[in-house]
Amino acid sequence: MENRDLADTAYKSRKRVSGVINIENYKHNKIKKAKIAGKAHKNHKGRDVVPRQTGAYCRCKLKCMKTISEDNIQSSICFINNFDSKNVQDTYLQALIEKQEIHRKRPKSEVPKNRQFTFKYHIKIEGGKLEVCKKAFSSIHGISEKQVRRLCILLKTNEQPIDHRGKSQGSRSNAISGDTLSKIWEHTE
Ligand SMILES: [Zn+2]
Repeated sequence: MENRDLADTAYKSRKRVSGVINIENYKHNKIKKAKIAGKAHKNHKGRDVVPRQTGAYCRCKLKCMKTISEDNIQSSICFINNFDSKNVQDTYLQALIEKQEIHRKRPKSEVPKNRQFTFKYHIKIEGGKLEVCKKAFSSIHGISEKQVRRLCILLKTNEQPIDHRGKSQGSRSNAISGDTLSKIWEHTE
């Protein structure tokens, strides 16, 4: 009997605490999911965020975006929206960026500086990859240039893009399984 009372009390208090956490978690997950899926939503500050959409056309010499059909541009956005985590989404995008080291001739006396890189950007199109400029890369995937910069910085240091947001809230795991990763790589090769 006593044991049962104890168990009841324990259950009730746990329920009360987890109720609060659940509301927070629910809100956090709802915003996170909407962000990944590129859906319209209100962010944590209560501001309206518009659905993910194609950005402005690039103005580079090659006019990359004018050579790509509207259907292909739209399907890039759909593809991005269909990933179920930000890490997987970022890893997919990172696989479309190619890092190349810049080799410069310098006098022997000069102290070697940090290695410098240049980046090539691609979009996945009809089963292959097509090189585009940086602006077209961000516009076609509906991501900001700031996000592109973040991916490039991670590429420089050979890091996987791990989403650290929300880490303070506890045990939520942001790790990508090796299996998921190899699936993405298959997709982009
Ligand atoms: Zn361009």
